Amino acid sequence: MINQRISIVENILSANDRLASDNRQRLDSARLFSVNIMASPGAGKTSLIERTVKTLSNRLKIAVIDGDIATSLDADRAAAAGALAVQINTGGDCHLDAVMLQNALNTLELGELDLLIVENVGNLVCPAGFKLGTHSSVLVASVPEGDDKPYKYPGTYQGVDVLILNKIDLLPYVPFKMDYFKQGVQALNPGISTFPLSCLTGEGLSTWYEWVEIQVSRYRQATNST
Ligand code: MG
Ligand code: ZN
Repeated sequence: MINQRISIVENILSANDRLASDNRQRLDSARLFSVNIMASPGAGKTSLIERTVKTLSNRLKIAVIDGDIATSLDADRAAAAGALAVQINTGGDCHLDAVMLQNALNTLELGELDLLIVENVGNLVCPAGFKLGTHSSVLVASVPEGDDKPYKYPGTYQGVDVLILNKIDLLPYVPFKMDYFKQGVQALNPGISTFPLSCLTGEGLSTWYEWVEIQVSRYRQATNST
């Protein structure tokens, strides 16, 4: 009984992986660099996206695909900031999967875009387990969540390429031991690029914007030469 259940879960994940690699092929043939942004609810994914779009949209044509359980609030904010925004209502699902991304990609002119940002559903457990086909995975952690999160959600901290630590303006007011947080991150994901910043005050954001622009231009150079 239990073995059968495991094989069903494996089948679902491998079907998802196949679709994720289809998505990647579509993105690559459109030469569109894409990031999947994951975080717990309230860490600041939407605020980060909003500020990123506002700052970079004069240089890059950006689309935002927003996963949300029930509302279009986040997509509305991304659109107001100047992105082409697509809403995915997951109908209660706590993560995006490759089919949902595929459907959203169908609504965009991929070849006309420079950057695709996917905002995953706020959840530190399963989004990291469902590949979407995006090029880079970004985790947004935040100071008020606490310094123990890498220890409690190792799967997510392990499975990402970039770590943002948001709300650093709150460091003087909450018990957050930076060394303890960093040790946890380091054990799971050694050398991961990390951006401490505050979407409220703007501190640290320019380094993040720079990273995004460098990724887009490196990706274009790499797809040019093939
Ligand atoms: Mg959001
Ligand atoms: Zn889920």
